[in-house]
Amino acid sequence: MPTATRSTSPVLISNVKPVAFGMAASSETVDILIGSDGTIAAIGNGLAAPEGAERIDGKGGWISPGWIDLHAHVWHGGTDISVRPQLCGMERGVTTIVDAGSAGEANFHGFREYIIEPARERIKAFLNLGSIGLVACNRVSELSDIRSIDIDRIIACYQENREHIVGLKVRASHVITGSWGVTPVKLGKKIAKILKIPMMVHVGEPPALYDEVLEILGPGDIVTHCFNGKAGSSIIEDEDLFELAERCAGEGIRLDIGHGGASFSFRVAEVAIARGLLPFSISTDVHLRSMNQSVWDLGTTMSKLLSVGMPFDKVVEAVTQAPASVIRLPMDNLLGVGARAEFTLFDLVDSELRVFDSLGAEAHLNRLFEPRYAVMGTDVVAANRYQPPHVECPDHSHGYSYR
Ligand SMILES: [Zn+2]
Repeated sequence: MPTATRSTSPVLISNVKPVAFGMAASSETVDILIGSDGTIAAIGNGLAAPEGAERIDGKGGWISPGWIDLHAHVWHGGTDISVRPQLCGMERGVTTIVDAGSAGEANFHGFREYIIEPARERIKAFLNLGSIGLVACNRVSELSDIRSIDIDRIIACYQENREHIVGLKVRASHVITGSWGVTPVKLGKKIAKILKIPMMVHVGEPPALYDEVLEILGPGDIVTHCFNGKAGSSIIEDEDLFELAERCAGEGIRLDIGHGGASFSFRVAEVAIARGLLPFSISTDVHLRSMNQSVWDLGTTMSKLLSVGMPFDKVVEAVTQAPASVIRLPMDNLLGVGARAEFTLFDLVDSELRVFDSLGAEAHLNRLFEPRYAVMGTDVVAANRYQPPHVECPDHSHGYSYR
Protein backbone atom coordinates (compact mmCIF):
# COMPACT_ATOMS: atom_id res chain seq x y z
CA MET A 1 0.00 0.00 0.00
CA PRO A 2 1.17 3.58 -0.52
CA THR A 3 3.00 4.88 2.50
CA ALA A 4 1.01 7.60 4.25
CA THR A 5 3.99 9.64 5.38
CA ARG A 6 7.31 10.21 3.69
CA SER A 7 9.87 8.00 5.32
CA THR A 8 13.53 8.83 5.82
CA SER A 9 14.53 5.24 6.55
CA PRO A 10 17.15 3.65 4.31
CA VAL A 11 15.67 1.47 1.55
CA LEU A 12 17.14 -1.79 0.27
CA ILE A 13 15.88 -2.75 -3.19
CA SER A 14 16.99 -6.28 -4.01
CA ASN A 15 16.94 -8.57 -7.02
CA VAL A 16 16.18 -6.12 -9.86
CA LYS A 17 17.39 -5.94 -13.49
CA PRO A 18 18.38 -2.44 -14.67
CA VAL A 19 17.08 -1.08 -18.00
CA ALA A 20 17.30 2.36 -19.67
CA PHE A 21 20.16 3.65 -17.54
CA GLY A 22 22.17 4.51 -20.64
CA MET A 23 23.65 1.03 -21.03
CA ALA A 24 22.28 -2.18 -22.48
CA ALA A 25 19.56 -3.85 -20.43
CA SER A 26 20.99 -6.53 -18.19
CA SER A 27 19.76 -10.00 -17.37
CA GLU A 28 21.85 -9.86 -14.17
CA THR A 29 20.06 -8.70 -11.05
CA VAL A 30 21.51 -6.25 -8.56
CA ASP A 31 20.68 -4.84 -5.13
CA ILE A 32 20.53 -1.10 -4.51
CA LEU A 33 20.80 0.48 -1.07
CA ILE A 34 19.36 3.97 -0.67
CA GLY A 35 20.70 5.88 2.32
CA SER A 36 18.54 8.02 4.60
CA ASP A 37 19.59 11.10 2.58
CA GLY A 38 17.82 9.65 -0.48
CA THR A 39 20.94 8.94 -2.52
CA ILE A 40 22.42 5.60 -3.54
CA ALA A 41 24.69 4.34 -0.74
CA ALA A 42 25.73 1.04 -2.29
CA ILE A 43 25.07 -1.13 -5.29
CA GLY A 44 26.01 -4.77 -5.72
CA ASN A 45 24.89 -8.27 -4.92
CA GLY A 46 23.85 -9.68 -1.58
CA LEU A 47 23.78 -6.28 0.15
CA ALA A 48 22.77 -6.39 3.81
CA ALA A 49 19.90 -4.20 5.00
CA PRO A 50 20.95 -1.72 7.68
CA GLU A 51 18.98 -1.40 10.92
CA GLY A 52 15.48 -0.01 10.29
CA ALA A 53 15.71 -0.20 6.49
CA GLU A 54 12.65 -0.66 4.34
CA ARG A 55 13.08 -3.72 2.11
CA ILE A 56 11.70 -4.14 -1.38
CA ASP A 57 12.17 -7.49 -3.07
CA GLY A 58 12.14 -6.89 -6.83
CA LYS A 59 11.75 -10.65 -7.45
CA GLY A 60 13.83 -10.49 -10.59
CA GLY A 61 11.73 -7.72 -12.18
CA TRP A 62 12.93 -4.57 -13.93
CA ILE A 63 14.17 -1.28 -12.54
CA SER A 64 14.44 1.85 -14.68
CA PRO A 65 14.90 5.55 -14.02
CA GLY A 66 11.58 6.97 -12.73
CA TRP A 67 9.00 7.13 -15.49
CA ILE A 68 8.19 10.53 -16.98
CA ASP A 69 4.81 11.28 -18.61
CA LEU A 70 5.59 14.12 -21.01
CA HIS A 71 1.95 14.99 -21.75
CA ALA A 72 -0.64 14.95 -18.97
CA HIS A 73 -3.20 17.36 -17.49
CA VAL A 74 -3.08 17.86 -13.72
CA TRP A 75 -4.30 21.42 -13.03
CA HIS A 76 -7.18 19.90 -11.11
CA GLY A 77 -9.71 22.50 -10.03
CA GLY A 78 -8.23 25.20 -12.25
CA THR A 79 -9.42 23.54 -15.46
CA ASP A 80 -12.43 21.36 -16.16
CA ILE A 81 -10.30 18.67 -17.76
CA SER A 82 -7.44 17.87 -15.39
CA VAL A 83 -7.05 14.91 -13.05
CA ARG A 84 -5.41 15.08 -9.62
CA PRO A 85 -1.69 14.37 -9.98
CA GLN A 86 -1.79 11.45 -7.55
CA LEU A 87 -4.08 9.56 -9.97
CA CYS A 88 -1.45 9.49 -12.70
CA GLY A 89 1.73 9.89 -10.62
CA MET A 90 3.73 7.63 -8.30
CA GLU A 91 0.81 5.22 -7.80
CA ARG A 92 1.04 4.54 -11.55
CA GLY A 93 4.86 4.31 -11.50
CA VAL A 94 5.30 7.89 -12.75
CA THR A 95 7.74 10.05 -10.78
CA THR A 96 7.66 13.07 -13.10
CA ILE A 97 4.45 14.46 -14.60
CA VAL A 98 4.75 17.08 -17.32
CA ASP A 99 1.58 19.11 -17.68
CA ALA A 100 1.01 20.04 -21.31
CA GLY A 101 -0.48 23.50 -21.30
CA SER A 102 -3.31 23.26 -18.76
CA ALA A 103 -2.24 26.63 -17.37
CA GLY A 104 -1.60 29.86 -19.24
CA GLU A 105 0.12 32.98 -17.96
CA ALA A 106 -3.11 34.24 -16.32
CA ASN A 107 -3.47 31.26 -13.98
CA PHE A 108 -0.02 29.67 -13.73
CA HIS A 109 0.50 31.04 -10.21
CA GLY A 110 -2.45 28.97 -8.93
CA PHE A 111 -1.18 25.85 -10.67
CA ARG A 112 2.19 26.36 -9.03
CA GLU A 113 0.84 27.04 -5.52
CA TYR A 114 -1.98 24.48 -5.33
CA ILE A 115 -0.68 21.63 -7.49
CA ILE A 116 3.05 21.77 -8.33
CA GLU A 117 4.44 22.75 -4.94
CA PRO A 118 2.44 20.34 -2.73
CA ALA A 119 2.81 17.35 -5.07
CA ARG A 120 4.80 14.29 -4.14
CA GLU A 121 5.76 13.85 -7.78
CA ARG A 122 8.03 16.23 -9.71
CA ILE A 123 5.68 18.32 -11.85
CA LYS A 124 6.96 20.36 -14.80
CA ALA A 125 4.83 22.33 -17.22
CA PHE A 126 4.51 23.54 -20.75
CA LEU A 127 2.93 26.99 -20.49
CA ASN A 128 -0.06 27.44 -22.78
CA LEU A 129 0.38 30.15 -25.42
CA GLY A 130 -3.21 31.22 -24.69
CA SER A 131 -3.51 33.30 -21.50
CA ILE A 132 -6.35 31.25 -19.98
CA GLY A 133 -5.01 27.74 -20.62
CA LEU A 134 -7.59 24.94 -20.61
CA VAL A 135 -10.06 26.49 -18.15
CA ALA A 136 -13.10 25.23 -20.09
CA CYS A 137 -11.34 22.94 -22.52
CA ASN A 138 -12.72 22.87 -26.07
CA ARG A 139 -15.65 25.06 -24.96
CA VAL A 140 -13.96 28.41 -24.37
CA SER A 141 -11.01 28.45 -26.76
CA GLU A 142 -7.64 29.50 -25.40
CA LEU A 143 -6.63 30.69 -28.89
CA SER A 144 -9.64 32.35 -30.51
CA ASP A 145 -7.83 35.43 -31.80
CA ILE A 146 -4.81 37.59 -31.05
CA ARG A 147 -6.45 38.95 -27.86
CA SER A 148 -5.92 35.45 -26.40
CA ILE A 149 -2.13 35.91 -26.38
CA ASP A 150 -0.12 38.39 -24.28
CA ILE A 151 3.53 38.15 -25.27
CA ASP A 152 4.86 40.40 -22.49
CA ARG A 153 3.00 38.49 -19.78
CA ILE A 154 4.13 35.12 -21.19
CA ILE A 155 7.74 36.25 -20.99
CA ALA A 156 7.26 37.59 -17.45
CA CYS A 157 5.48 34.39 -16.34
CA TYR A 158 8.33 32.28 -17.69
CA GLN A 159 10.93 34.40 -15.97
CA GLU A 160 9.12 34.06 -12.62
CA ASN A 161 8.69 30.30 -13.02
CA ARG A 162 11.81 29.07 -14.77
CA GLU A 163 12.19 26.12 -12.43
CA HIS A 164 8.72 24.84 -13.35
CA ILE A 165 8.16 25.79 -17.00
CA VAL A 166 9.99 23.65 -19.56
CA GLY A 167 8.42 24.95 -22.76
CA LEU A 168 5.45 26.50 -24.54
CA LYS A 169 2.35 24.57 -25.61
CA VAL A 170 0.23 25.42 -28.62
CA ARG A 171 -2.87 23.50 -29.62
CA ALA A 172 -3.10 23.85 -33.39
CA SER A 173 -6.37 22.45 -34.62
CA HIS A 174 -9.54 24.08 -35.85
CA VAL A 175 -11.51 22.96 -32.78
CA ILE A 176 -9.40 25.53 -30.89
CA THR A 177 -8.26 28.09 -33.45
CA GLY A 178 -11.20 28.16 -35.85
CA SER A 179 -9.88 29.32 -39.19
CA TRP A 180 -6.88 31.12 -37.67
CA GLY A 181 -4.62 28.46 -39.15
CA VAL A 182 -0.95 28.22 -38.38
CA THR A 183 -0.41 31.81 -37.16
CA PRO A 184 -0.49 30.97 -33.42
CA VAL A 185 2.18 28.31 -34.03
CA LYS A 186 4.42 30.91 -35.71
CA LEU A 187 3.88 33.33 -32.84
CA GLY A 188 4.56 30.58 -30.29
CA LYS A 189 7.77 29.68 -32.11
CA LYS A 190 8.90 33.30 -31.98
CA ILE A 191 8.32 33.46 -28.20
CA ALA A 192 9.97 30.05 -27.67
CA LYS A 193 13.03 31.33 -29.55
CA ILE A 194 13.16 34.48 -27.41
CA LEU A 195 12.95 32.37 -24.23
CA LYS A 196 15.23 29.62 -25.63
CA ILE A 197 12.76 26.90 -24.68
CA PRO A 198 11.14 24.16 -26.77
CA MET A 199 7.59 24.35 -28.05
CA MET A 200 5.15 21.46 -27.98
CA VAL A 201 2.48 21.61 -30.66
CA HIS A 202 -0.70 19.55 -30.64
CA VAL A 203 -1.68 18.48 -34.14
CA GLY A 204 -5.22 17.41 -34.95
CA GLU A 205 -8.06 18.62 -37.10
CA PRO A 206 -6.68 20.96 -39.80
CA PRO A 207 -6.16 23.83 -40.09
CA ALA A 208 -3.33 24.04 -39.13
CA LEU A 209 -1.94 21.21 -41.23
CA TYR A 210 0.49 18.78 -39.53
CA ASP A 211 2.74 19.49 -42.57
CA GLU A 212 2.91 23.25 -41.95
CA VAL A 213 3.44 22.75 -38.21
CA LEU A 214 6.49 20.58 -38.96
CA GLU A 215 7.88 23.26 -41.28
CA ILE A 216 7.81 25.79 -38.41
CA LEU A 217 9.32 23.58 -35.70
CA GLY A 218 13.03 23.10 -35.15
CA PRO A 219 15.31 20.64 -33.34
CA GLY A 220 14.16 20.13 -29.74
CA ASP A 221 10.54 21.07 -30.45
CA ILE A 222 7.83 18.46 -29.95
CA VAL A 223 4.84 17.33 -32.00
CA THR A 224 2.31 15.67 -29.74
CA HIS A 225 -0.42 13.31 -31.02
CA CYS A 226 2.17 12.25 -33.62
CA PHE A 227 0.39 8.97 -34.47
CA ASN A 228 -3.17 10.29 -34.50
CA GLY A 229 -5.57 8.78 -37.01
CA LYS A 230 -7.61 11.87 -37.86
CA ALA A 231 -8.50 12.57 -41.48
CA GLY A 232 -6.13 15.23 -42.77
CA SER A 233 -3.68 14.67 -39.92
CA SER A 234 -2.61 11.03 -40.15
CA ILE A 235 0.94 10.50 -41.37
CA ILE A 236 0.03 7.28 -43.18
CA GLU A 237 -2.61 8.71 -45.52
CA ASP A 238 -0.17 11.09 -47.26
CA GLU A 239 3.27 9.84 -48.31
CA ASP A 240 4.66 13.39 -48.52
CA LEU A 241 3.68 14.00 -44.89
CA PHE A 242 5.19 10.67 -43.81
CA GLU A 243 8.50 11.51 -45.47
CA LEU A 244 8.43 15.00 -43.98
CA ALA A 245 7.81 13.55 -40.50
CA GLU A 246 10.67 11.09 -41.02
CA ARG A 247 13.04 13.85 -42.12
CA CYS A 248 12.03 16.15 -39.24
CA ALA A 249 12.49 13.33 -36.70
CA GLY A 250 15.97 12.81 -38.15
CA GLU A 251 16.70 16.50 -37.68
CA GLY A 252 15.73 16.44 -34.00
CA ILE A 253 12.04 17.30 -33.90
CA ARG A 254 10.53 15.05 -31.25
CA LEU A 255 7.50 12.92 -32.09
CA ASP A 256 5.44 12.40 -28.92
CA ILE A 257 2.54 9.96 -28.62
CA GLY A 258 0.06 11.98 -26.47
CA HIS A 259 -2.53 9.16 -26.65
CA GLY A 260 -5.51 11.10 -25.29
CA GLY A 261 -9.16 10.62 -26.05
CA ALA A 262 -8.84 11.17 -29.79
CA SER A 263 -5.21 11.01 -30.80
CA PHE A 264 -3.72 7.51 -30.91
CA SER A 265 -4.24 5.03 -33.72
CA PHE A 266 -2.91 1.46 -33.52
CA ARG A 267 -2.78 1.33 -37.29
CA VAL A 268 -0.80 4.56 -37.72
CA ALA A 269 1.63 3.49 -34.98
CA GLU A 270 2.09 0.01 -36.42
CA VAL A 271 2.72 1.23 -39.96
CA ALA A 272 5.12 3.97 -38.81
CA ILE A 273 7.10 1.63 -36.53
CA ALA A 274 7.26 -1.07 -39.23
CA ARG A 275 8.80 1.57 -41.51
CA GLY A 276 11.34 2.46 -38.81
CA LEU A 277 9.73 5.68 -37.59
CA LEU A 278 9.61 5.30 -33.80
CA PRO A 279 8.09 7.85 -31.44
CA PHE A 280 10.66 9.84 -29.46
CA SER A 281 8.53 9.80 -26.31
CA ILE A 282 5.48 7.91 -25.07
CA SER A 283 2.96 9.95 -23.12
CA THR A 284 -0.66 9.55 -22.10
CA ASP A 285 -2.42 12.92 -22.52
CA VAL A 286 -4.37 11.67 -19.51
CA HIS A 287 -7.26 13.91 -18.49
CA LEU A 288 -10.76 13.53 -17.09
CA ARG A 289 -12.25 12.69 -20.48
CA SER A 290 -9.55 10.25 -21.66
CA MET A 291 -8.56 8.40 -18.49
CA ASN A 292 -11.58 6.09 -18.21
CA GLN A 293 -12.05 5.95 -21.96
CA SER A 294 -9.08 4.46 -23.79
CA VAL A 295 -5.95 5.85 -22.07
CA TRP A 296 -6.05 4.49 -18.50
CA ASP A 297 -2.39 5.18 -17.67
CA LEU A 298 1.23 5.27 -18.81
CA GLY A 299 1.92 1.53 -18.28
CA THR A 300 -1.02 0.64 -20.53
CA THR A 301 0.07 3.18 -23.15
CA MET A 302 3.61 1.74 -23.12
CA SER A 303 2.13 -1.76 -23.53
CA LYS A 304 0.20 -0.58 -26.60
CA LEU A 305 3.41 0.65 -28.27
CA LEU A 306 5.12 -2.65 -27.42
CA SER A 307 2.20 -4.50 -29.02
CA VAL A 308 2.65 -2.69 -32.36
CA GLY A 309 6.33 -3.54 -32.65
CA MET A 310 8.31 -0.98 -30.64
CA PRO A 311 11.22 -2.83 -28.96
CA PHE A 312 11.06 -3.21 -25.15
CA ASP A 313 14.15 -1.14 -24.36
CA LYS A 314 13.03 1.63 -26.75
CA VAL A 315 9.66 1.76 -24.99
CA VAL A 316 11.35 2.20 -21.62
CA GLU A 317 13.73 4.85 -23.00
CA ALA A 318 10.69 6.70 -24.39
CA VAL A 319 9.41 7.28 -20.83
CA THR A 320 12.82 7.90 -19.22
CA GLN A 321 15.89 9.10 -21.14
CA ALA A 322 13.93 10.74 -23.98
CA PRO A 323 11.49 12.92 -21.99
CA ALA A 324 14.25 13.68 -19.44
CA SER A 325 16.21 15.39 -22.21
CA VAL A 326 13.18 17.56 -23.05
CA ILE A 327 12.78 18.80 -19.47
CA ARG A 328 16.55 19.04 -18.90
CA LEU A 329 16.54 16.47 -16.11
CA PRO A 330 20.12 15.19 -15.73
CA MET A 331 20.34 11.43 -16.35
CA ASP A 332 24.08 10.73 -16.10
CA ASN A 333 25.25 7.90 -13.90
CA LEU A 334 21.90 7.35 -12.21
CA LEU A 335 23.09 3.98 -10.90
CA GLY A 336 26.24 5.31 -9.24
CA VAL A 337 26.91 5.70 -5.53
CA GLY A 338 25.87 9.23 -4.53
CA ALA A 339 23.29 9.61 -7.32
CA ARG A 340 19.76 10.65 -6.43
CA ALA A 341 17.54 7.58 -6.12
CA GLU A 342 14.62 7.85 -8.49
CA PHE A 343 13.28 4.63 -9.94
CA THR A 344 10.32 2.73 -11.24
CA LEU A 345 10.19 -0.99 -10.48
CA PHE A 346 8.04 -2.91 -12.93
CA ASP A 347 7.35 -6.31 -14.41
CA LEU A 348 6.57 -7.30 -17.96
CA VAL A 349 3.78 -9.85 -17.55
CA ASP A 350 1.79 -12.11 -19.87
CA SER A 351 -1.81 -11.05 -20.31
CA GLU A 352 -4.86 -11.08 -22.55
CA LEU A 353 -6.00 -7.53 -21.83
CA ARG A 354 -8.67 -6.00 -24.07
CA VAL A 355 -7.93 -2.35 -24.86
CA PHE A 356 -8.92 0.31 -27.39
CA ASP A 357 -7.16 3.07 -29.25
CA SER A 358 -8.70 6.54 -29.52
CA LEU A 359 -10.65 5.58 -32.63
CA GLY A 360 -12.32 2.61 -30.96
CA ALA A 361 -10.12 -0.04 -32.57
CA GLU A 362 -9.88 -2.99 -30.21
CA ALA A 363 -6.74 -4.97 -29.47
CA HIS A 364 -5.66 -7.64 -27.03
CA LEU A 365 -2.35 -6.97 -25.34
CA ASN A 366 -0.39 -10.12 -24.58
CA ARG A 367 2.39 -8.37 -22.65
CA LEU A 368 1.86 -5.64 -20.10
CA PHE A 369 4.07 -3.17 -18.31
CA GLU A 370 2.96 -3.53 -14.68
CA PRO A 371 4.48 -0.90 -12.39
CA ARG A 372 5.17 -2.21 -8.87
CA TYR A 373 6.85 0.67 -7.03
CA ALA A 374 7.84 4.27 -7.60
CA VAL A 375 10.85 5.44 -5.62
CA MET A 376 11.94 9.04 -5.05
CA GLY A 377 14.74 9.20 -2.50
CA THR A 378 13.46 7.27 0.51
CA ASP A 379 9.83 7.85 -0.54
CA VAL A 380 8.54 4.48 -1.76
CA VAL A 381 5.03 4.15 -3.16
CA ALA A 382 3.38 0.89 -4.24
CA ALA A 383 2.17 1.23 -7.82
CA ASN A 384 -0.15 -0.54 -10.22
CA ARG A 385 -1.80 0.00 -13.58
CA TYR A 386 -5.09 1.90 -13.55
CA GLN A 387 -8.10 -0.22 -14.37
CA PRO A 388 -11.22 1.77 -15.27
CA PRO A 389 -14.54 0.78 -13.68
CA HIS A 390 -16.02 -0.21 -17.05
CA VAL A 391 -14.11 -1.26 -20.14
CA GLU A 392 -16.03 -0.26 -23.21
CA CYS A 393 -15.34 0.83 -26.73
CA PRO A 394 -14.83 4.61 -26.74
CA ASP A 395 -16.91 5.05 -29.87
CA HIS A 396 -19.11 2.17 -31.01
CA SER A 397 -19.79 3.78 -34.36
CA HIS A 398 -16.13 3.31 -35.26
CA GLY A 399 -15.53 0.14 -33.26
CA TYR A 400 -13.64 -2.60 -35.05
CA SER A 401 -11.25 -5.28 -34.02
CA TYR A 402 -7.64 -4.37 -34.64
CA ARG A 403 -6.27 -7.78 -33.75
ZN1 LIG B 1 -3.35 17.32 -23.92
